[in-house]
Amino acid sequence: MSESVRLLLVEDNELNRDLLTRRLQRKGYRVSVAVDGEEGVQRVRDELPDLVLLDLDLPKIDGWTAVRMLKADPDTREIPVLALTAHAMVGDRERALAAGCDDYDVKPVEFTRLLSKIRALLSERADRA
Ligand code: MN
Repeated sequence: MSESVRLLLVEDNELNRDLLTRRLQRKGYRVSVAVDGEEGVQRVRDELPDLVLLDLDLPKIDGWTAVRMLKADPDTREIPVLALTAHAMVGDRERALAAGCDDYDVKPVEFTRLLSKIRALLSERADRA
């Protein structure tokens, strides 16, 4: 089933991007990538992925702005967005959720926990459909 699930990973750090892409592909996900917020928003609009993994600290358009754009657009607002940030600062989770992210996790990624969050968001969306 997960073979058909399409994820978009928006991450400017090449090492993080490549590592996470490979690990997600090994779990059977189809992964496309964007390297900044501008490309991320464009790819979501073009590809309509099943879920977006969104680094918040991004060039061109930051993650907070990108998620607001996606959630303001009727074509993309239903796509779950899981925010990722290295800045595990007090209030970051609340800021991410207030900006429209559906969930939040911290980097460095703990992969098993991230997978469970991805699965939870995908099943929530399936339940609503
Ligand atoms: Mn970043």
